[in-house]
Amino acid sequence: MEKITLLQTDDHVTRLCYGCMRIAGTWNPHDVDAQKQQAAYAALDAAMEAGFTFFDHADIYCAGKCEELFGEWLAANPSIRETLFIATKCGIRFGGSPRPDSPQRYDFSKEWILESAEGSLQRLGIDKIDLYQLHRPDFLADPYEIAEAFSELRDSGKVRHFGVSNFRPSLVAAIEEHLDFPLISNQVEIHLLKLDTLEDGTLDQCLQFRMTPLAWSPLGQGRLGSEARPGLHDPKIIALHGVMDNVAKAYGTTRAELAVAWLLKHPANIIPIIGSTNPQRIAAAPNACDIALSRDDWYRLLHIARGERLP
Ligand code: NAP
Repeated sequence: MEKITLLQTDDHVTRLCYGCMRIAGTWNPHDVDAQKQQAAYAALDAAMEAGFTFFDHADIYCAGKCEELFGEWLAANPSIRETLFIATKCGIRFGGSPRPDSPQRYDFSKEWILESAEGSLQRLGIDKIDLYQLHRPDFLADPYEIAEAFSELRDSGKVRHFGVSNFRPSLVAAIEEHLDFPLISNQVEIHLLKLDTLEDGTLDQCLQFRMTPLAWSPLGQGRLGSEARPGLHDPKIIALHGVMDNVAKAYGTTRAELAVAWLLKHPANIIPIIGSTNPQRIAAAPNACDIALSRDDWYRLLHIARGERLP
């Protein structure tokens, strides 16, 4: 698969990232049996065979089990560690943990950032996280405290680069002010059914600060996938599918690959995070990199996705 240099770094990563959120096949770690474990390894094998070297995680995916499954898989393939770029996230805390009455919350306290990083390193079985991201803006985020935690993780060699996720531009700027090194990425929801970042300043800021946008759910949680989904009756999505299928046919591709190619066209070098756990779909995902979508077709898709004329 094609590789690009991550802006503001010397790291070469694949044009697409493989997202590990679904590899456990459940959000309940107690449900992960031998069959689910094998399915996770099969998905990771398929990603490796398809050429993915960039992998995305979060501490909360199946309450740490996704990182753990990846760590086991990596332990069986130790020689590939140096070829991989491993990202994970922290900062979301579930209700009921650690005490039964603990509320759901976001936590960017220095203590929690440092503790979370240790947990991810241990579960992933690595000594260094390549990209550590703050998962969702903590309403009590204190840029001084974040900078202290990040500096400590960087100085100790436990984290190489830092990024954020679901951040508004003003909070990115506030945190940048306090760091001696740049935030290199903002992981946000971008796809043809979620267009906010094109207009809310997020992608503009990525262009300005040379941050890489990572696009989560590039198929809109599967709604832009090529196969029919039972229960999908939204007329807007059905109309979008119709136009996507016509454009896809002209390029000799599928709806799912077209959805990813639409993201790749943006000048901010968006890196879509592929979320399928189906080995055939994972193998096909890199085909999106070969689609040279025209400006007209990019706009054709934008028009139908917006559901209204451009001003
Ligand atoms: P997605 O690609 O939009 O959705 C994946 C889902 O769509 C899976 O259930 C998959 O099923 C299905 N699918 C894939 N291809 C399909 C096709 N051709 N036809 C029909 N269905 C298809 O991505 P996602 O999994 O929601 O998210 C991707 C990654 O983004 C995650 O792994 C995670 O790393 C990241 N993420 C980050 C955040 C955040 O807040 N930062 C939030 C959500 C996700 P199969 O497995 O059966 O193919």
